[in-house]
Amino acid sequence: MAERSRTYRTQAVILRRRDYADADRILTVYTPRLGKVELIAKGVRKTTSRKAGHLELFSHASLLVAQARTWGIVTEVTTVESFLHLRSDLDRISWAGYVCELVDAFGSAEDESQPLWEMLLYALRMLDSDEAQIDLFLRWFEMHLLSLVGFQPELFNCLACGDELQAVTNYLSLAAGGVFCPRCGEAAGGTEPIEPGLLKVLRHIQRSSWTDVRAVQLRPQTIQAVENILYRYLVLVLERQLRSVDFVRRLRSARNQLAVTSNQ
Ligand SMILES: [Zn+2]
Repeated sequence: MAERSRTYRTQAVILRRRDYADADRILTVYTPRLGKVELIAKGVRKTTSRKAGHLELFSHASLLVAQARTWGIVTEVTTVESFLHLRSDLDRISWAGYVCELVDAFGSAEDESQPLWEMLLYALRMLDSDEAQIDLFLRWFEMHLLSLVGFQPELFNCLACGDELQAVTNYLSLAAGGVFCPRCGEAAGGTEPIEPGLLKVLRHIQRSSWTDVRAVQLRPQTIQAVENILYRYLVLVLERQLRSVDFVRRLRSARNQLAVTSNQ
């Protein structure tokens, strides 16, 4: 029986790729309308392949895909943005890898992928630019990604009674996904106190554009505290979803190495 196929054109960012068979590659890509998709690129590991150069990790490409029964097959590819500056720097490459892993971990095949698609491109363009505050930018990216995929932490109203949180020491519960007021926080288990200054910074990161966030001068300790909270929250959400076990393991080991270095 002849295999029916339909052909479609899409933009895509290459999140992940792995070798397959003799000369093929399986690509995990993120697209503006189909969300996360796995495709096969046939023959791209042959030195004569004209597609190979356009299917680098983190590339923004335009693809023509023939949808076969099992796989979407990449039949044509052109580069839209190759992010050359990003590729010239090892730090930037690892940050781009982190951004793509997060999108891979939280993204799925769905219809409403445009906002996450735009966020992904925005992040890659930022990493390709001369932006100096990359640490803080990645925290901003994590926070906005969490909101886009339905895990926005509640930072404005008490999780239990709903009252607006005041500028006092409140109680953070990552497991519960937000903050309790002092009264409810004492009754709830597994909370940690959070100072009003830190809560204010988290809120600012959550509801502001990157341009507004980068305009505020933050102390390194504050950025570190934000990183610590977001890191623990990301790991908790990913583990609860039972997703990306390898990614969580790598996150943890990168984190442990950081802790060792900063203790020396
Ligand atoms: Zn309360």
